[in-house]
Amino acid sequence: MKVFVLFVAVAVAAWQCHGADGDRDHGVDFQIFPLRMKSGLGGHYIPEISCQSWRLGVEAHNIIGFSSVPADCVGYIGNYLIGEQYRSDSKTVCREAYFYVKTLNITDRDAWVFDIDETTLSDLPYFADHGFGAEPFNSTAYNAWVYLGVAPALPESLKLYRKLVTLGIKIIFLTGRTQAQHEVTAANLKQAGYYKWEKLITKDTTIYNGKTALTYKSTERKKVEEEGYKIIGNIGDQWSDILGTNTGARTFKLPDPMYYLS
Ligand SMILES: [Mg+2]
Repeated sequence: MKVFVLFVAVAVAAWQCHGADGDRDHGVDFQIFPLRMKSGLGGHYIPEISCQSWRLGVEAHNIIGFSSVPADCVGYIGNYLIGEQYRSDSKTVCREAYFYVKTLNITDRDAWVFDIDETTLSDLPYFADHGFGAEPFNSTAYNAWVYLGVAPALPESLKLYRKLVTLGIKIIFLTGRTQAQHEVTAANLKQAGYYKWEKLITKDTTIYNGKTALTYKSTERKKVEEEGYKIIGNIGDQWSDILGTNTGARTFKLPDPMYYLS
């Protein structure tokens, strides 16, 4: 009897999984499982579910102020960043930015603000050696990496940069890197393919020591606009890059599940 019940259960489950003909209504053989959680047979915990939700929470700015990636999510975040999804997500953001720019009549005062780390340059080689953000942030080790000046370009951002330059838009790099790191950052940008810009704004720590990135970046963008530039767009991987004042006519948020800067 038990075997029979099991057989019926398996048969019903199989029918549900393969679905009725309605599944092919649109000529596509796919399955929709409305609101069904992807859990194990006994409903047990699968790390990927919560790590995916965690990443979405970070990108949507629901999860804020975290100091490190949850230890359980190192594998998930690492796979995301090294795999195709991170590049695909970045491409979507940069394409939308370009589609937006194409709708504008560009003037010679139009400027675009780019953040640097995890926006124009990628620190992935560093973070791959430091648990993709799961290790507590080590400023000494991170600064040593910055001073190497070997960060590669984030390819999708470089593509957007080239298109904006071709359209005559002024490029403004605005970074939390310090003025002491100005020269190495300029050299790194050039080596990565960012060969020209209007301004490279690095942080004056005598003014902004103890201030948030949001305050620093808002203040510097305000100065830029007071000089007569019009910020038509602004792109960064942190919400503090694109919130605050003088944010630009449109903002674009690149993915970054590794760290949070307020
Ligand atoms: Mg950044």
